[in-house]
Amino acid sequence: MEYIDRLSRRQFINGDWVEASNKATRDIVNPYNQEVVISVSEGTKEDAEQAVLAARKSFESGEWSHETSENRSQKVREIADLIKEHKEELATLETLDTGKTLEESFADMDDIHNVFMYFAGLAGNDGGEIIESPIPNSESKIVKEPVGVVTQITPWNYPLLQASWKIAPALVTGCSLVMKPSEITPLTTIRIFELMEQVGFPNGVINLVLGKGSEVGDVLSSHKEVDLVSFTGGIETGKHIMKRAADNVTNIALELGGKNPNIIFDDADLELAVDQALNGGYFHAGQVCSAGSRIIVHNDIKAQFEEALVDRVNKIKIGNGFDKETEMGPLISAEHRGKVEKYIEVAKEEGTTIAAGGKRPERADLQDGFFFEPTVITNCDTSMRIVQEEVFGPVVTIEGFSSEQEAIELANDSIYGLAGGVFTQDIGKANRIANKLKMGTVWINDFHPYFAQAPWGGYKQSGIGRELGKEGLEEYIISKHIYTNIQPEPVNWFSK
Ligand code: NAD
Repeated sequence: MEYIDRLSRRQFINGDWVEASNKATRDIVNPYNQEVVISVSEGTKEDAEQAVLAARKSFESGEWSHETSENRSQKVREIADLIKEHKEELATLETLDTGKTLEESFADMDDIHNVFMYFAGLAGNDGGEIIESPIPNSESKIVKEPVGVVTQITPWNYPLLQASWKIAPALVTGCSLVMKPSEITPLTTIRIFELMEQVGFPNGVINLVLGKGSEVGDVLSSHKEVDLVSFTGGIETGKHIMKRAADNVTNIALELGGKNPNIIFDDADLELAVDQALNGGYFHAGQVCSAGSRIIVHNDIKAQFEEALVDRVNKIKIGNGFDKETEMGPLISAEHRGKVEKYIEVAKEEGTTIAAGGKRPERADLQDGFFFEPTVITNCDTSMRIVQEEVFGPVVTIEGFSSEQEAIELANDSIYGLAGGVFTQDIGKANRIANKLKMGTVWINDFHPYFAQAPWGGYKQSGIGRELGKEGLEEYIISKHIYTNIQPEPVNWFSK
């Protein structure tokens, strides 16, 4: 394929496309049919070290960190333009790499374009200010500076989208960055580095290192020349990164997992609630941090809801992401499907009922891909592992509730706090509940919408910090207080 043939297979360090220091490579596999799409460099600890040092050198040179915000904004806008221009190519690469439907990949590219445009618009809007000093004959100002060298580690489910949430604010604020995409889905991240090279940045401002978390990621989270580690991925990796960063008291931003409740009241529009439950639970085969994988439905409509959901779930068309008919693609890898299958066993041992799916599809044309049927699990309760732990697959559990208070307690009974939904026609009730949910995002009569203008992130163990919105910019900024004595005189604290 033309898009693959012309793609770099290397890393981008200090303005050059380079192989791994030990020349190692990794095959990138299409999850739809296990074909090797391309073989790319598999970076090393040395490569990560080189990239961090290049980023440090560029940052200290001031070429980018002291560039005017207008020029930085212009460059970020140019990246947005190139994303629009190369939308089909980027979407194709994303579907090849992740198996998600092409329609989803196109939507991702629109969102990514918006992310770059939004942050380009925030350039210079960093909140620096003159403040009134309480000390006579003095002046005080707060200046905002780029935080410095940032390392950015992303997951495989939304490779370019997650990268864009980190690259755009870092560039707009004047940071130098080292990006490490998931080792199994590097294609669109490589391509955006090619596009950014076309836009043109001083050497060392943008660096791309490919490779494993335990190698490359470990250096990026523990190097003393790093000022901020921005990580999106699983909770256990997040905890590990936090510990590694602690050695140098390095700042961290963590976007971790979720087990997101979707509360459906008896006065909800049932058809809408079922439709949105599908959207919440099975979009991108449930491999979404904010997937509505935990349905909490009023007992008076539970049986009716379950029947309607199972009926719709059994109609979901699974297949090749490039086929127009396909509504749900495969899981990302054999290993990940294995994890999802283990959770089905856990659910069975816990005494639940598999009301739909729960196994690999039997269709002959799907046998080479990592497919798993969309699954509905009923007879669940909050104490179960299948209800508490993130499966990250097309698996939805259903619990019942009787009162508003019980719905809130169940929804908050989780180590996670990323997102949740509430379905009811009583908007007062919906807002009462939204105020009590311990989650970074709450959707009322909807599921999944997000945009660049609103902050995204988790309460509790779903993360630390925020991406997107003004808060997403602030992660990349550090405040400095500059105090001037305009009438200096000796203070004579100490005798002469
Ligand atoms: P993961 O934690 O396995 O990997 C994420 C990234 O971390 C990869 O680039 C990986 O190579 C790297 N990594 C792994 N071990 C590392 C280590 N020891 N040191 C440094 N880096 C290391 O996660 P995944 O399986 O790629 O992604 C799925 C997870 O991501 C899910 O839990 C999902 O909820 C989460 N996620 C969260 C958000 C959010 O916005 N909160 C968004 C997308 C995905």
